[in-house]
Amino acid sequence: MKDLTQLVRPNILRLKPYSCARTEYTGKDASVYLDANESPYNTPLNRYPDPLQETLKARISLIKEVPVKNIFLGNGSDEAIDLMYRCFTVPGKDNVVAIRPTYGMYKVCADINDVEYREVDLDAGFELNARKMLRACDAHTKVIWLCSPNNPTGNHLDRKEIEKVLSRFDGIVVVDEAYSDFSRRRPFRHDLSQYPNLVVLNTMSKAWGCAAIRLGMAFADARIIEVMNKVKYPYNVNLLTQEKALEMLSNPYTVDNWVNIIIQERERVMDSFRLLPICEEVYPTDANFFLARMTDANAIYQYLIGEGIIVRNRNNVSLCRNCLRVTIGTKGENLKLLSALRQY
Ligand SMILES: *Cc1c(COP(=O)(O)O)cnc(C)c1O
Repeated sequence: MKDLTQLVRPNILRLKPYSCARTEYTGKDASVYLDANESPYNTPLNRYPDPLQETLKARISLIKEVPVKNIFLGNGSDEAIDLMYRCFTVPGKDNVVAIRPTYGMYKVCADINDVEYREVDLDAGFELNARKMLRACDAHTKVIWLCSPNNPTGNHLDRKEIEKVLSRFDGIVVVDEAYSDFSRRRPFRHDLSQYPNLVVLNTMSKAWGCAAIRLGMAFADARIIEVMNKVKYPYNVNLLTQEKALEMLSNPYTVDNWVNIIIQERERVMDSFRLLPICEEVYPTDANFFLARMTDANAIYQYLIGEGIIVRNRNNVSLCRNCLRVTIGTKGENLKLLSALRQY
């Protein structure tokens, strides 16, 4: 890996971050706070929230088994994705390399930041090929985007290939593990000490059932986390989100139970798809969704809309011709989907 000073965008390296009242005062708990122009009324909403979310991070640290200094929290993973560009790439000059097909936000954020986005098709079986990824890189490649289990394909990328990318690429490697809660494989966040260039993304939007509160996590070397904290908005995670997240994290067994039910349902729905005459292939998955190649994805997608059922049409995504991406719902929702498809 290059030295971090060579990877961080030069103006960010020089940046003196905004210093908020809550950061400047670090003494013991005071009883009179007249430093932040807050209202004295409407407790607790009158106070700015903790800019570094220490209490929430302490809890997440226990559950995820990652030290607090290696945790960044953001307004969804989307914030962490955008920060990768703002921290590490020079617009109009640097580039990033990503697998294809994958999650759409990596490209949207590249376009917003005016950074060249290079795509490398996955191999047969939607497998990662480390050599092909590395061949697409040049001296201006700052970030490689990997997603495992991948969206929209659902499969895990081969761990050996991810490790090759991590050890041979001299820039930042992001492994988006938004769906790792549904998988029994070893997540990459446990290997941070081995790879100083690794950034792992997690979210409360999927298995934790909290898409509405917008809480995303990045796990990385403490020096990378420091750069991200310097660039983020000072109060990027609001108080209501921090409190709700703490409440959810105090019931991890509820989430375990949800995950188990969803995985069971997933196997049942996939088995039923395999029996549908309009389904040509069901791809293996480790997530709470699966990809299915149909006889005519556009027509079936429109038909399902007419039945009040929305799935994701991936027909126009490369390597996904005629594919629908189906999220696993409740047993009742899944039954409605299957019964509609049997009547197509
Ligand atoms: C859903 C999803 C996310 C979650 O994004 P949030 O902003 O945290 O809601 C991240 N990455 C991938 C690949 C996803 O599919």
